[in-house]
Amino acid sequence: MSSLDALPIRDDLRGKSPYGAPQKVVPVALNVNENTHPIPEDVARDIVTSLAHAVLNVNRYPDREFTDLRVSLAGYLGHGLTADSIWAANGSNEVLQQVLQAFGGPGRSLLGFTPTYSMYSLLASGTGTRWIAAERDADYELSPETAAAAVRRENPDIVFLCSPNNPTGTPLSLETIEAVYDATDGIVVVDEAYFEFAPEGTRSALTLLDGRDRLLVSRTMSKAFAFAGVRVGYLAAAPAVTDALRLVRLPYHLSALTQAAATAALAHSAEMLAMVDDIKAQRDRISEGLAALGYHPYRSHSNFVLFGGVDDPNGLFEALLERGVLIRDIGLPGQMRVSAGTEAETSAFLDAMAAVSSKV
Ligand code: PMP
Repeated sequence: MSSLDALPIRDDLRGKSPYGAPQKVVPVALNVNENTHPIPEDVARDIVTSLAHAVLNVNRYPDREFTDLRVSLAGYLGHGLTADSIWAANGSNEVLQQVLQAFGGPGRSLLGFTPTYSMYSLLASGTGTRWIAAERDADYELSPETAAAAVRRENPDIVFLCSPNNPTGTPLSLETIEAVYDATDGIVVVDEAYFEFAPEGTRSALTLLDGRDRLLVSRTMSKAFAFAGVRVGYLAAAPAVTDALRLVRLPYHLSALTQAAATAALAHSAEMLAMVDDIKAQRDRISEGLAALGYHPYRSHSNFVLFGGVDDPNGLFEALLERGVLIRDIGLPGQMRVSAGTEAETSAFLDAMAAVSSKV
């Protein structure tokens, strides 16, 4: 059997590891920030009806412009957005990859504020873009001054701002986004994958789009919409940005089945998002429960909580797994991340934490 090392792979990919959160079958899986609530049955039935129509035409290529889906996404986002400002792909990972293909690449750089979503550096490496890791403030917050200073110093071609940030859960102010935008001539992406879990009244970076042609706001249907298995991510930006992305996307990249399923689900957005309030309540229960056990949960506007005060993350991971609960060791010393589940899953996690905490 040949080894990876023996292949004539690109030098810059040698020794790299792929994205690899464990996919284990366990009773309580709270490790990849999924929405663990199943989608409502009547919505599922509508999606199946849509798919049944679409499948009769799969002999033909799908609408390359995914027009119905873009119209539905624009309607969902609001803020006066129209379809010509919307782009979509197979998960926001693919959207972000396309952004790097169009605006990054060899000789160009991408800056992010670490710890942040682990795929950013992997997408940079896959597209031959230089990755620049800049630092956050205390407690993983990011002030306008800290962010703008790093951007001025490093002068990257692209900045990815994760809002709220994964894996820390910490929110990002609009002032920080504006300061970063003003500090660069490059592309600024605000990744709002978890935006729907922010407190009522939190303003989205979508409100900053007007007059900022280099600002891109990405979202996903994987989290709040409970649609991770379908793979739909999207962004809003100036129409010229979507024209740039058309230059790098593969033709017909969104399958007819994906387009049909997503459009049907968006017609039920209120119902699809009904569980978001419960997830936010479970997240707050997690933060309170962990604090009561003596851990240090960080401020979270997302559907997960990062907590410190763990003496032995690997030991805790294994002890919880023995009790059927899967959480995430994201490689930060003394810290672990857990996604908010249903009420029962969250109780199972908190009970397991109480049981093991005295021993770990
Ligand atoms: N951005 C962030 C911050 C994420 O955490 C994730 C998923 N974990 C994504 C983007 C990608 O999500 P998807 O490709 O499922 O849309």
